[in-house]
Amino acid sequence: MTNRPRILSLRLPLFLALSAGLGALLLGASTTPPPGATPEPPAGPVKPLAPHVPASWKAGQASVVVTPDKFLWMAGYAGRTKPAEGKVQDLYAKALALEDMEGNRVVIVTMDLIGVPPSVRRNVAERTEKAHGLPPANLLLNASHTHSGPQLRSSPVTEKDLENPKIRDSYEFTQALQDKLVHLIGEALGHLEPARLTWGHARCGFAMNRRRNYSLAPEDPNANKAPNPDGPVDHEVPALRVEAEDGTLKSVLFGYACHNTCLGFYNWCGDYAGYAQEYLQANRPGFTAQFLNGCSGDQNPYPRRSGVVPGVTDLELAQQHGRSLANAVEMALTANPRGVTGPIRTAYDEVELTYAKPERPSHSYPVQIIQLGGDVTLVALGSEVVVDYSLRLKKELAGPAAVWVAGYSNDYTGYIPSQRVWKEGGYEAAAGWTEDVEDRIVKKVHALHDQLGKP
Ligand SMILES: [Zn+2]
Repeated sequence: MTNRPRILSLRLPLFLALSAGLGALLLGASTTPPPGATPEPPAGPVKPLAPHVPASWKAGQASVVVTPDKFLWMAGYAGRTKPAEGKVQDLYAKALALEDMEGNRVVIVTMDLIGVPPSVRRNVAERTEKAHGLPPANLLLNASHTHSGPQLRSSPVTEKDLENPKIRDSYEFTQALQDKLVHLIGEALGHLEPARLTWGHARCGFAMNRRRNYSLAPEDPNANKAPNPDGPVDHEVPALRVEAEDGTLKSVLFGYACHNTCLGFYNWCGDYAGYAQEYLQANRPGFTAQFLNGCSGDQNPYPRRSGVVPGVTDLELAQQHGRSLANAVEMALTANPRGVTGPIRTAYDEVELTYAKPERPSHSYPVQIIQLGGDVTLVALGSEVVVDYSLRLKKELAGPAAVWVAGYSNDYTGYIPSQRVWKEGGYEAAAGWTEDVEDRIVKKVHALHDQLGKP
């Protein structure tokens, strides 16, 4: 009798070793490290990254695939000649819900889509307030601006429009998207569980100013050449880390200021930001990575397009930039984490932006601030703001709280130049705003920031 357990205990390791070998064979080469690779360290017990930070929050995540079922026309480039033809990566909408100790809640939705049309923002905010009691000021909708997603169509359509499959399909997609977003937000709020929040940042260098260098004299041989390696950029990669009470990493919200335009093909894809999210989520079951687009109006990923790097395809460049950003986020997640405490304070208002042509109606432009205690101030601006906005606001709002400036939020009306870009002219200045466009927006940011006061 006494021997039997010993025999069993000898057999068990043999069985485990055999089954592990079989498992490795079945899984194939992908689990076999390449020759010379550093062996993966064994996974240690889960530990909080910053145990001194109280798990005083509740956080919930949710994610939904928004890849169109049909091959719709694609967004972003005016020169498209046909609809999408395939998919290399699914597109997602993801939501992070946060609740502070006072019960204040905020939801941040990020999407692998071209933009947030104003009517989509209005519709989703109204329905979310009704269904979940979330005030519109506490909802942020942000788009990655991938140029490998579908065209959105939110404006009213006529009976005749609906006979045109190009218009009808993108209208139907946008209607269904709104339903999905309201449901997604409810799901994230439904998942609220105790959490610890930390903020960190790192840097990533592939974004370059895509405009020409307007300071060069016209006779300079580089005067008309873009991109501009000396132009303004914002290489900061801010990251909000969410972990469960026991230290299990639940999600990260990370930012970067760069167009998602590595790709110009006819396949659905999240571009570099889609890959950054995919790589961060790989090997982390149950973990959500969300990309919050920054002030990317005049920023492109480089190298861009395969002609620059012989033998490297556009898709490979998107993946390489995605890996580079994911690596920066890994560092932002772990290097010098700073505890984030509540309370949540939000402010949202619209400022009228006017066009130089007086007959053109003004545009109600949304500005939103979300404060997470005295630790993080998130400024969310609408549409394609150029990088000058984030550089200026980070300087002007500098204080104890980290300042994070997002673009492409709650609105999509094309490019929003700074005064500098407005004066220089060029593609990002062509929308026809009046010269005071930057002044109006920045004044509104300061007014909302003052209104919130010190946390
Ligand atoms: Zn753009």
